[in-house]
Amino acid sequence: MKGRIYMEPIYVTKPFLPPIDEYIGYLEKIWECGILTNNGPLHNEFEQKLCSDFGWKNVSLFTNGHLALEVALRVLDLKPGSEIITTPFTFVSTAASIVNQGFIPVFCDIGENCTIDTTQIESLITEKTSAILPVHVYGFPCDVDGIANIADRYNLKVLYDAAHAIGVRVNGRDISSYGDISMFSFHSTKLFHTIEGGALVYNDDKLKTHINLCKNFGISGSETIELVGLNAKMSEFQSAMGLLSLKYLDSIIERRKSIYERYMSNLFGVKGIKIFLADSNYISHNYSYVPVLFENGRDCVYDVLTKNNIFPRKYFYPAISNIDCYKKYLGSNTLDVTASTASQVLTLPIYPTLSLDNVDKICEIVKDAIR
Ligand SMILES: *Cc1c(COP(=O)(O)O)cnc(C)c1O
Repeated sequence: MKGRIYMEPIYVTKPFLPPIDEYIGYLEKIWECGILTNNGPLHNEFEQKLCSDFGWKNVSLFTNGHLALEVALRVLDLKPGSEIITTPFTFVSTAASIVNQGFIPVFCDIGENCTIDTTQIESLITEKTSAILPVHVYGFPCDVDGIANIADRYNLKVLYDAAHAIGVRVNGRDISSYGDISMFSFHSTKLFHTIEGGALVYNDDKLKTHINLCKNFGISGSETIELVGLNAKMSEFQSAMGLLSLKYLDSIIERRKSIYERYMSNLFGVKGIKIFLADSNYISHNYSYVPVLFENGRDCVYDVLTKNNIFPRKYFYPAISNIDCYKKYLGSNTLDVTASTASQVLTLPIYPTLSLDNVDKICEIVKDAIR
């Protein structure tokens, strides 16, 4: 059968929704107690549960991941206007947080697994550099040991954009145990969500007061304001969704794993296609995205899929260094791997209710398209 073979469109993702009765159960608690936001009981329960489930020492919850990143940049005590080395192969939020906070992004090329190429960081360090902001893109861990080594030698702070990396473990440790602060996004399109939301995770207890002041206007008492803050608090409704997402997280990851493996068995080793090995001896993955690189004809594959009512995304195209309002930060350094990856990548659909049959169909269409 030619033409549209699906009645229902298949998007790159579909937000997780818990059984509605369970959410209503939380709504009843909110109604009973009358607290909707500002460190309510569900917010506090969610923080504690996150710490115990992931072994986090400190967490601060936010109304979205982006504001969490901006607050992290404020509390790291970086020299105003200094340079921050980052990756151009990410969602625009990463670079936007740097510019919005008055810093200068310095783009470093990416390596094999689409994360920042550690071997190129040192050549970008100047006397103005204050921090490194790498991204565990697609949940693939950065070279965390290499980055720690450089940061130690040059006395730089490390803020990880771990928006995609909830639940990922490296060397048996939660991924947020690396770097000074890690930011997780809990946006609906992420595998673990609170509708909109995000978190900062950090080991240094001394950061807690500053972070929490920043997200609530700098208010420390009914008549005292300590600093010029912003409003980035997580509400009780978001926290309720978070508690339910947490309850189902293991089964969500389990299901995504079988989908990812199905893509692997269909596409691994196919000429002209690169699909990434997610797990290894020292990485346990969360299968948050299925990025696939097409040596040739990425746009053609995209068009054929969308004609079949399947909607992958070109995450992350264009690279940030190619977006007009960020181009001026691109120095003389070359970003060859970034350029080729951005022009070759498609992220294919993955979400718990996607059937393995549909994965097979998507792969058939993909293979047909490149033949
Ligand atoms: C989603 C995302 C963010 C921002 O998170 P929001 O919760 O949507 O504000 C930041 N960085 C990356 C890489 C992301 O994918």
